[in-house]
Formats: sequence, structure tokens, C-alpha cells
Amino acid sequence: MPKIGVLALQGDFREHIEMLKKCKIDAAEIRLPEDLKDVDGLIIPGGESTVIGNLMQIHSLDKEIIKKYKMGMAIYGTCAGAILLAKYIAGSSQPRLNLLDISVKRNDYGRQIDSFESELNIDGIGKFNGIFIRAPVIKKARNGIKVLSKLGNKPVLVRQNNILASTFHPELTNDKRVHEYFIELADKTS
Ligand code: GLN
Repeated sequence: MPKIGVLALQGDFREHIEMLKKCKIDAAEIRLPEDLKDVDGLIIPGGESTVIGNLMQIHSLDKEIIKKYKMGMAIYGTCAGAILLAKYIAGSSQPRLNLLDISVKRNDYGRQIDSFESELNIDGIGKFNGIFIRAPVIKKARNGIKVLSKLGNKPVLVRQNNILASTFHPELTNDKRVHEYFIELADKTS
């Protein structure tokens, strides 16, 4: 089994750890650069991307994450985590990892429906209940990015090499399949 860490600075990292437990993975909480030692896969949770990004910078975790990624570590970002992975964030210069070639716009599903659930169809997984909470919209995904699921014409789960990013929250369901997909990715790239 690969070693998986969950970035535990802010946001719903506990829910990811619980989900990983259901997948028989005893995940490490990542707060400092040295916590990433031996980690094959990192989950960046949902939360507030500006807060997580600033804390990441203060603790120099951003540099270590990028270094480990280049050495083969897999990364999965959910919602705020997807924003932090993106190269382009509309109207924002907030700190980010700048690794995933997508453009995102924060909170772009509108006020009335800024939290909602919708049935998704995921490539290789099938039907999945998508929970969206003040979710960003992926406006553009560059060539070479696999769009694994869309809501209408908007990508909601994408993959670029060993990076996975979703604008929804599988950790808030009882469905392990997206996490299992990521564990397999981390296992292959480890
Ligand atoms: N709206 C949040 C942000 O922009 C993301 C919301 C979430 O992670 N559920 O950071």
C-alpha cells in the first residue's frame, strides 16, 4: 500500500483521513515539510484556498510539495485543493502550487446554488454523487489534461499525469471509489 498524507493546515482534512481509513490506509497529517518524507501521495482538502495557500507558504510546504511532486509524488486536490493546484485563478494572485494547467474561477456556481449535489458520471468509475460547496468552476483545461467527469459542459474531475483534481467533495460521501482511484495512482507512481 502507498503511504498517503493529507495536508492538515485548514479545511476538511479529517474527513479525508476517515475516508482513507475506510480504504485501509492509515494516513499521515502533513503540517511541516519533513512530514512529507516517504509520502507517495498527498491529498489537499477543501477549505479556504487563500488560508491554506498562505499557511503553506509560511511553513515552506509549497516548495517541498513541488519538489516531491517532481520526484513522483501523486497529488489529489478537492475544491480549495484544486484551486491551489491550478496555474490560473481568475482575478487572484493568491499563493498556489502552480502545477496543474487549468484556469479556475472561485465560487463561480452563483450564490443561490453555491452548495448543491448532483449525480455525476465518472470515467472508469460510473455514477457518483457530487457534493459541491462554494465550488470553483474549471473554465479551461489545457491539452493533455484528461477530463474524467463533467457537470454540463464544465469539467469537475480532471487528471494530468499524477495529479488529480475535483471541484466536488467525495470525502463527504460514503463512496470510496474516487479515493481508491487516487490510491492506485499513488501506488503506480511511487
Ligand atoms: N470557495 C473556497 C475557496 O475559494 C473553496 C470551497 C471548498 O473548498 N469547499 O477557497
